[in-house]
Amino acid sequence: MIIVLKPQATEADANEILAKIAELGLKPLYMPGIERTVLGALGDERILRQLHLDSYPMVNDIKPILSPYKLVSRELQAHDSVVAIDDVKIGGGNFTVVAGPCSVESQDQLFGVADMIKSHGVPLLRGGAYKPRTSPYSFQGLGEEGLKLLRAAKAQYQLPTVSEIIDPNDAELMAEYIDCYQIGARNMQNFRLLEAVGKQQKPVLLKRGMSATIEELLLAAEYIINAGNANVILCERGIRTFETATRNTLDLNAVAYLKEKTHLPVLVDPSHGTGVKSLINPLSRAAAAVGADGIIVEAHLNPKEALSDGHQALTEEDFAKLMADIKPFVSAAGKVLR
Ligand code: PEP
Ligand code: MN
Repeated sequence: MIIVLKPQATEADANEILAKIAELGLKPLYMPGIERTVLGALGDERILRQLHLDSYPMVNDIKPILSPYKLVSRELQAHDSVVAIDDVKIGGGNFTVVAGPCSVESQDQLFGVADMIKSHGVPLLRGGAYKPRTSPYSFQGLGEEGLKLLRAAKAQYQLPTVSEIIDPNDAELMAEYIDCYQIGARNMQNFRLLEAVGKQQKPVLLKRGMSATIEELLLAAEYIINAGNANVILCERGIRTFETATRNTLDLNAVAYLKEKTHLPVLVDPSHGTGVKSLINPLSRAAAAVGADGIIVEAHLNPKEALSDGHQALTEEDFAKLMADIKPFVSAAGKVLR
């Protein structure tokens, strides 16, 4: 429920109502605005009727939040959230590029890619240390050794890092090494994992499950915020459809829809979204045009040697072209390329 207070309501008026909401076992939210204060009550809305809030002199309006997701909804917060990964802002008029290898493989490999993306002005480095692989015989990642390399790459190139978490017990350990957790498609509804990163402070890049609806993605984000971490970035990474020509079908509908329904920033992953190297460039341009807040792409200096996803890794040449080609689309969307 959203409770809009009158412009003259004081903080004490708000606190009185918030305390009553908490007494009922509902989650109280305090959202002071420039013109007026808005309060929220999350939980079973029928309970709230007991308070008869309409009889409070400082209450102007009471409205239900119609969507099943609440904290992520624009109904609750109309303005865009800006999420900072270390000192790099996602959202708020920026179009931010995150790039790096699928997996961290060695110092030479990671530093080589970091150096390359840095020279193109990219502010964030991605790389998986824990890899959720379809086959148990595929490379599973370097684990903590990979995290150490990510931390070293950040120190060397001043590139904050994004890396996937697959085990809730790793949340604290990873926070020592990286700047943003990635929750991968295969774990979007791993609720213990969502709660574990929800208890941390570092931001979370939440990828859409390959057969998850948009509503399920938003409810997964709701889990993280409800557990205490509001720094959530959504990522459309393609869904499974009947189409087999591409690895996945990049759902750009979802990007436009998400921008309407949620205040959270939205990135697009055209690498996994297409799985086809030559399509990453056009789909990145499309992502900018449709209103995404940035892209996350895979790059490798020697894709043939890559231990995972080499077929979709951009080389230095591909990457330079991508950065040049997206520029006019980012400007046309009224954003600044970061
Ligand atoms: C990845 O980013 O390398 C990855 C495994 O992505 P997804 O979870 O989207 O498949
Ligand atoms: Mn990958």
